[in-house]
Amino acid sequence: DTIVVLFNRDLRVHDHPALAEACARAGRVVPLFVLDPAIEARHRRDFLHETLHDLRSSLRTRGGDLVVRRGDPAEEAVRVAGETSATRIWAGGDVSSLARRREGRLAGACRARRLEFRLFPGVTVVPPAALTPSGGDHYRVFTPYWRAWSATPRRPVLGPPERVRLPDGLDPGDLPEPSSEPFGVVRGGETEGRRRMAEWVDAGLARYAGTRDHVAGRTSMLSAYLHFGCVSPTELVELACARPDAEDYVRQLCWRDFYYQVAYAFPDLGRRDYRPRADLDWAGDGDAAAAWREGVTGVPIVDAGMRQLRREGWMHNRVRLIVGSYLTKRLRIDWRVGVDHFAELLLDGDMPNNCGNWQWVAGTGNDTRPYRTLNPLRQARRFDPDGEYVRRYVPELASLPDDLVHEPWRSPAPVRGYPPRPLGGELRA
Ligand code: FAD
Repeated sequence: DTIVVLFNRDLRVHDHPALAEACARAGRVVPLFVLDPAIEARHRRDFLHETLHDLRSSLRTRGGDLVVRRGDPAEEAVRVAGETSATRIWAGGDVSSLARRREGRLAGACRARRLEFRLFPGVTVVPPAALTPSGGDHYRVFTPYWRAWSATPRRPVLGPPERVRLPDGLDPGDLPEPSSEPFGVVRGGETEGRRRMAEWVDAGLARYAGTRDHVAGRTSMLSAYLHFGCVSPTELVELACARPDAEDYVRQLCWRDFYYQVAYAFPDLGRRDYRPRADLDWAGDGDAAAAWREGVTGVPIVDAGMRQLRREGWMHNRVRLIVGSYLTKRLRIDWRVGVDHFAELLLDGDMPNNCGNWQWVAGTGNDTRPYRTLNPLRQARRFDPDGEYVRRYVPELASLPDDLVHEPWRSPAPVRGYPPRPLGGELRA
């Protein structure tokens, strides 16, 4: 009996339900990844390729390999099943509408060829449709979801398979060579993700609650690993919960599941207002949007964030909130402009988290206080009090004294190379 395990956003050997069960039950297993040129985002490509090399080497250590094909994942999975006389195709279930359409096509192709098709959980800790409030199909408000989520028993964390037995004579296929100058602040792969996860749980987690909003610092930086499934969210929660003072961190991981269940129930989350608002007109102009993207708005904390994103493929969560609120509520630019730019550059960019958070910030989403705005100057003084973050990413402001670094327009001498006034008008704390 041979099983094709189709990898998707679960690029790991630890705690991989489909791989673990296939290796325990079948004589032969084909771990397959299909590079789909139609959805390869340019800025996430290096991270993905590094991850695939790492996965291939972990599978080889276990006697197997990563079989790589190019094209449409549904078609290629069925083709590989035919070549290897496999009787089943198993895969990790995903949430976005694009992924679910693909799963639907694969299920149809399997039915037509009498192959068993099975989807396994794993992208989230609690599967997206597993919890429903009374009288609704999903949770719209976070706190009741958090309560229900916290009370839900978690499945056990699975170890990696000891051996992966491939069918004979299978061509594993080539992987793209890793780039010599990869984009982004973190390197891809399960090995690196697990190293960071262990280090974070040991040394970072305990100070999270007190420092998570200090924008010059780093939070766990695990989001890209979670996005590609190099790290299992279930294992991360399990490890964190074994430590004291983990609640603030685990709560953030619950936000991730929360948005996945919103996206599952409302597949248009990326395009349509979740909670339509007749009072919003998005009157802002294209030049302002361009200045925001480039990090030249004249608002130091906003410009620092936008430049961090372009340089690192990552931005601190607090700054994502600030630049998002500024774009939508001050410049009155449509949240979809923000979604598209983030989706292009973020290493962790994914539909449910990106769009759910943007709609929250814009006041069309799950925020129970949709009219709030974040004052960028007040936020900057509070979360970057000595200007360390701004100086790091906006060198034009590096030599300003602390009391002017967030308000360069008050400087008696003009600051060379930096906009003299903030876009969107005067700012007061
Ligand atoms: P930590 O603070 O260490 O948190 C640990 C994990 O919890 C994160 O890796 C993430 O999986 C989860 N998490 C934390 N905050 C949130 C949140 N607000 N919503 C959902 N999950 C959360 N996160 C993405 O993974 N992908 C995105 O595309 C994305 N887009 C965003 C867009 C906007 C406008 C905003 C305000 C936030 C967005 N976030 C997104 C959420 C959050 O900013 C990042 O997950 C976080 O900054 C990643 O860094 P970290 O792993 O060090 O986070």
